[in-house]
Amino acid sequence: MLFERIALIGFGLIGSSLARVVRRDGLARHIAVCARTRQTLDTAVKLGLADSVSLDCLDAVEGADLVMLCTPLSAYGEIAAAMAPRLKKGCIVSDVGSVKQVVLSDVGEHLPDGVHLVPGHPVAGTEHSGPEAGFAELFEGRWCILTPAADADQGAVDRVAELWRRAGMMIEVMDAPHHDQVLAITSHLPHLIAYTIVGTATDLEEDLQKEVVKFAAGGFRDFTRIAASDPVMWRDICLTNQDAVLEMLGRFSEDLTALRRAVRRGDGGTLEDWFARTRAIRRGVIDAKQA
Ligand code: NAP
Repeated sequence: MLFERIALIGFGLIGSSLARVVRRDGLARHIAVCARTRQTLDTAVKLGLADSVSLDCLDAVEGADLVMLCTPLSAYGEIAAAMAPRLKKGCIVSDVGSVKQVVLSDVGEHLPDGVHLVPGHPVAGTEHSGPEAGFAELFEGRWCILTPAADADQGAVDRVAELWRRAGMMIEVMDAPHHDQVLAITSHLPHLIAYTIVGTATDLEEDLQKEVVKFAAGGFRDFTRIAASDPVMWRDICLTNQDAVLEMLGRFSEDLTALRRAVRRGDGGTLEDWFARTRAIRRGVIDAKQA
């Protein structure tokens, strides 16, 4: 057992998947769940994943030695301000958000002395949302990135790392700005590209649109899966990682222009070199067992 009482604030894909791991492996004596709607709390109880439920995060965090924020990023500031008075001394506050600098500002500023902040990002997910979409194996073999401040309590960092290790994750520690830059290219930009392509396809004339769906296996299908991701979550990611996302979008536009020029000029050499280089990257992803 790693914790006496874990409070999960937000109980969707990620929160409920973590609860499944905690239950399966007996990692906490008590799981307190907080969500926005009664329906989600009822589901948590029905799934046997909650020992107590509340619409008020103050009740959930009472006596918790770990509070894990699993809501959209835009809710963090308000939740942190609301729960701060009830956090016990020595409590660890962590999160699963996809952008990390914002946690240090939005959450960190509200926490009282003696409470340890250890921001984290389990880099694992699906395009599905909600408590019933969760599953314990979601995290297996994936990376969890922790971004504690330089002066963070090492014992608290180790305990959060151990929780994710028990979920089957590999741990990497880095600073928050670096995390946000890396994820901008590996996750945020690909999602924006997918949203763009699928958006472009839906703007086509009706007869062409039908053909797009019919022949989706030609490549379009993979983009539709990514572009089905939660709109609120992705709005928040774009807004909270604005600088890094804009930087990567800028680079992408430049490369797209170069590719366009090569196509227009019939420059097969450039195209082939380009495609050969990117094919090698795919091999690297497979070798790293991240495919
Ligand atoms: P989700 O399935 O949409 O679940 C979000 C949960 O947050 C819901 O239970 C919702 O409650 C709750 N919530 C929203 N606002 C709240 C508030 N003010 N107070 C209390 N609860 C609130 O989302 P998710 O996919 O699990 O994502 C959660 C976090 O994980 C996000 O920050 C995201 O960046 C990060 N993340 C996601 C993925 C992914 O692939 N999905 C991967 C890694 C990290 P109700 O159900 O009652 O509305």
